[in-house]
Amino acid sequence: MIEAQELTKRYGDKTVVDRLSFSLKPGTVTGFLGPNGAGKSTTMRMIVGLDTPTSGSVTVNGMRYARLPAPLHEVGALIDAKAVHPGRTARAHLRILAATHGISGKRVDEVLRLVGLEGVADKRAGKFSLGMGQRLGIAAALLGNPAVVILDEPVNGLDPEGVLWVRHLLQRLAREGRTVLVSSHLMSEMAVTAERLVVIGRGRLLADSSMDEFVRSAGGKGVKVVTDDVDRLRVLLDVSGVSVTAGSGAGQLLVEGLGSRDIGRVAAAHDIALVELTPRGVSLEEAFMELTRDSAEYVTAGTEEVML
Ligand code: ADP
Repeated sequence: MIEAQELTKRYGDKTVVDRLSFSLKPGTVTGFLGPNGAGKSTTMRMIVGLDTPTSGSVTVNGMRYARLPAPLHEVGALIDAKAVHPGRTARAHLRILAATHGISGKRVDEVLRLVGLEGVADKRAGKFSLGMGQRLGIAAALLGNPAVVILDEPVNGLDPEGVLWVRHLLQRLAREGRTVLVSSHLMSEMAVTAERLVVIGRGRLLADSSMDEFVRSAGGKGVKVVTDDVDRLRVLLDVSGVSVTAGSGAGQLLVEGLGSRDIGRVAAAHDIALVELTPRGVSLEEAFMELTRDSAEYVTAGTEEVML
């Protein structure tokens, strides 16, 4: 369980996280989304006590991170995969962390195996690729078998097999009853990994909902219908609660308030041939772009990056 209440962080006169409130429940993977500079990392850093809120609070299992007696057992976090002494081997890095909590060497070997690093466990972390570094960071996060797992961009630098592995791992952790918070800029990946979403822009909460609700509320409604008998179908569908508008092409209608199955039945009952019957879907990426359009700190204009 992670609970943020009016969580705020200011750097000088810039408010980076702005009265953010959310509550993340066990058993769910929550995707944490926002344009670059939205305040995601700062929020995650405050959850694990690396930054202090200017005001408001955030608790893990009802307690501020700093007050947790054995934090590795409560919350595991991957915030910066590079935060490893480059001269230490993967195994040594994990053993040092383990020693702070009386965690056994057996558990170190277990997490090395879990993340697929057992073959390079005695190699120096400084020589690791970005993807191997991410795996080591995930191993460290899971070391204490925590009920809350927070991962900032865990699939950065991973190959497709690694990306799939992270997806399945996160879903398994949630099924085991853990609270999982994960940020990623890969929308397509988030769409198939997370069940809930917290979206922020310029430090403010823009959405806190299930993935389905989020995409639906972005306008993923209506059915595109194409037929040669557009006038007749239009009259037949013109009933209360259903809106029928002309689509962009010839013979096209956009129908809202009636599902594709019902539209198909009406057409069939009146011998109207349908050329196309397509529920209009909106991808997570489109929904995200729509919601955050006004809150992106940097937007691309042509080939230039311009600060808004
Ligand atoms: P995100 O993870 O969503 O990309 P961050 O939390 O990293 O966003 O950053 C949010 C904003 O806070 C950015 O504008 C960033 O420049 C600023 N910021 C982050 N850390 C500091 C800091 N230590 N001092 C000043 N500004 C900071």
